[in-house]
Amino acid sequence: MFKRILVPVDLNEPDFSESAVEMAIREARLDQGEIHVMTVMPGFNSPLVAGYFDADAVEKAREAVKIQLKSFAANRLPADLPHSLSVHEGQPADRIIHQAEHMGADLIILTAHHRSHLQEVLLGSNASRVVERAACSVLILRGGKG
Ligand code: ADP
Repeated sequence: MFKRILVPVDLNEPDFSESAVEMAIREARLDQGEIHVMTVMPGFNSPLVAGYFDADAVEKAREAVKIQLKSFAANRLPADLPHSLSVHEGQPADRIIHQAEHMGADLIILTAHHRSHLQEVLLGSNASRVVERAACSVLILRGGKG
C-alpha cells in the first residue's frame, strides 16, 4: 500500500526512532516499497547562528552528521531493502514536509512523546506540525522502542 516511506530521525535521540524504522521496514516489505531516512541539523542556516561559524566548520558538522546517519541506517536497515538518506538544515517540521513533497512520499512515520495540547503549544511539536501540514498519510508511534 505504501511505496515511498519517509522516516525522519532526530540523531540526538536515535533509539527513540527505532520503532519507526522497524515499522517502515515492515511496510516497505509488504509492497516492495522504499525507505528514505532523513535528519535535520537545526540552526546553522539562521543568519544569527551562521555568523558564529565559518563555512569550514559548517561543512565539517554536515559531514559528521552524514556519517552518523549512515551508521544509524547501516545498523538498522537490511542491506537488501532499497533505501536512501539525506541531511537537511533548518526547522525540522518544515524540512520534513519539504522532503516528503520532494520525494513524493506516501507515508511519513514518526515517533513522538505524548504531550498535552498546552505542552504542544508551548513546546512547538514537530510531530503535530507534520500531521497538520503533510499531504500524505502520517503514522505517529507513541514513545520509543517497545
Ligand atoms: P516530541 O515527541 O518530543 O514532541 P517532536 O514533535 O519533535 O518531539 O517529534 C519527534 C519526532 O519528530 C522525532 O521522532 C522525529 O521523527 C522528528 N524529528 C524531530 N526533530 C528532528 C530532526 N532534527 N531531524 C529529523 N526528524 C526530527
